[in-house]
Amino acid sequence: MPLHEQRHVKFQMAIAFFGRREKICVETYKGIMQKRGIVMSNQKDDLEENDVETKKEGSSGKVADHESDEIEYEKVCFLCRRTESKAGKMVSLPQGIHICMDCMQKSFDAMNDPNLPYKDILGSATANLNLTDPSEMDFSDLTSRLPKIQKIKKKTSKQEQSQEKQANQAKKSSGLDIRSIPAPHKIKASLDEYVIGQEYAKKVISVAVYNHYKRVATGTQDDIEIEKSNMLMIGPTGSGKTYLVKTLAKLLNVPLAIADATSLTEAGYIGDDIESVVSKLLAAAGNDVEKAEHGIIFIDEIDKIAKKKNTNQRDVSGEAVQQGMLKLLEGAEIEVPVGANSKNAMVPLETVNTKNILFICGGAFPGLEEIIKERLNKQASIGFCADLRDKYDSDPNILEKVTLDDIRNFGMIPEFIGRLPIVFTLQGLTKEMLVKILREPKNAILKQYQKLLALDEVKLDFDDEALEAIAERAMEKKTGARALRAIIEEFMLDIMYEIPKDDNIGRVVITREYIEHTGGPVIMMRGTPALEG
Ligand code: ADP
Repeated sequence: MPLHEQRHVKFQMAIAFFGRREKICVETYKGIMQKRGIVMSNQKDDLEENDVETKKEGSSGKVADHESDEIEYEKVCFLCRRTESKAGKMVSLPQGIHICMDCMQKSFDAMNDPNLPYKDILGSATANLNLTDPSEMDFSDLTSRLPKIQKIKKKTSKQEQSQEKQANQAKKSSGLDIRSIPAPHKIKASLDEYVIGQEYAKKVISVAVYNHYKRVATGTQDDIEIEKSNMLMIGPTGSGKTYLVKTLAKLLNVPLAIADATSLTEAGYIGDDIESVVSKLLAAAGNDVEKAEHGIIFIDEIDKIAKKKNTNQRDVSGEAVQQGMLKLLEGAEIEVPVGANSKNAMVPLETVNTKNILFICGGAFPGLEEIIKERLNKQASIGFCADLRDKYDSDPNILEKVTLDDIRNFGMIPEFIGRLPIVFTLQGLTKEMLVKILREPKNAILKQYQKLLALDEVKLDFDDEALEAIAERAMEKKTGARALRAIIEEFMLDIMYEIPKDDNIGRVVITREYIEHTGGPVIMMRGTPALEG
C-alpha cells in the first residue's frame, strides 16, 4: 500500500476508534447540557422538528443555543482537553469531537510502534475500511487484542465458589478434574460406537467408571470415603470383554494394562508375580507413577485362578493368587520393578499406590452355567410352585441370573469376590449381533477391508446374504466375534491377492456363494453402468 494510502487508512481508523469510544461521553455530555437548558448543535435539528425556536449554527464547534442567546464555545481537544487557543488547529471528527494535532500525531506514533500490537490489528481491521461510515466499523477483534485489557470474571455465588474450590483442590491432589470426566450417558454413547449389543454391560461399566473417577478426583476430603468400584465381568469368550475395556481406556485416555490370570503364580514360584500386573500398568503409563495410579488393570481369564477342588497340595496358581491379589484390589503401596516382570538387584523399583487403580476382572467361567442351573432347578423343584426340572436348560441368558454364591461355588474365595463389588454379565453373541459387528462399529472389519481396497480405487461390497453366511460360520466355531476375523481373512486372501493385478477392476461384490465355496465374487470392470449402483 503506498504511504499516503497507509496514512489514510490509519487516519480513518483513528477517527472510527475515537468516534466509537467517545460516543458515550458525548451522549452523557449532551444529556447534562440539555438538563441545563443548553442544546448541542446536532440535537438542535431534532428540536427544530418539534417547532422549538432555535437557531442553526455551523456543525463544527460546540455551539449551544439557549432561548435565542448565542454562546460560542472554543473547540477543546477530546484527548488532552486543551483549548484551540492553546493547542492550535484541531481536526474535527463526527459527533462533535475535536482532536488537536499533537494528540493525532501521538496516536499515529503509537500505531507505528513495533512494541505495540497495533500493526497486526491494522491488518485485520483493514477489512472494515470499505465501510463508508467509520462508526460502523467492528472493533470487537481490535479490543480483544489490545494490551492490558482483561476479561472481568463473572461473580459466582458462594456455593459455586466453594464447589470450584473443592474441584480445584481435588484436581491438585489427584491430577484429575471432576468436570472433565464424561457423564455415564456420554461414556455409553461413545462405547456404542464401537461395541455392538451388551447394553446392560455398557451401562454398568459407564456408571462404575464414572463413579470411580469421581472418587479419585474428589480424594478424601471428608469422612465419607467412596469405595472402589472394581468390577467382575462374566461373559462367553469373544463376547467383547477385552474390547469393552480397551475401548473404555482409550476413550478416557488412561493407561491400561491387560494381564492374563493364567500366568500368575504365588511369589517365589515359576510364573509371573501378582505384582507384575502393576509393573505392566507402569510401563503402559510410560513409567509415570502418577499416571499409572489412575489407570485401569484388566485381568483376563480370572476364572482360571479358581480354587482347585479336591486337592491336598498348595494351590500356587489358584487360591494363593486370589489371596495375593486381595491387597492389590483393596489398595496398597506396591514396589514394582521398572521395565521388568520380576524384582532383582539390577532393576530399579518404583512405589505405586493401587488405591486409585481400577481393577476389572473378566472371565468366561465355563461351568458356571451348570452351577446356576443346578441352584435354580433346586429352588424350582421345591414346594407347591415346583416347576419343570429342565426349565432353565435351554435358557440362553442363564448367566444373567448369577449370584455371588454361584461364583463362590465356582471356586472364587469370598474375600476376593468381596473386593469386586460390581458384577455383571455379557451376553453370548447372536447371528444378528455378529452381522452388526461386521458392519457397524467405527472400525468394523468390513470398513477396514473397504478402506484397503479403496486405496487401489476398487469398491468392495458385501451382500446381506454373504454377511449372514459369515455370521453362521462364526456361530459354529463358538468363539464369538473372534471367529469373524479368521473367516474373513480366509476368503479375502484371494481377493486381496488377485484384484491389484488388474487395473480395470472397479468393484467387487462378495456373495454367499463365495463364502460357501459354491461360487465366486461378482467382479465389475471400470466404466460399466452397474458400477455406479
Ligand atoms: P473376550 O470377551 O474373549 O475378551 P474380545 O473382547 O477379545 O473377547 O473380542 C474379540 C474381538 O471381537 C474384539 O477385538 C472385537 O473386534 C470383536 N468383538 C467382540 N465383541 C464385540 C462387540 N460386542 N462389538 C463389537 N466387536 C466385538
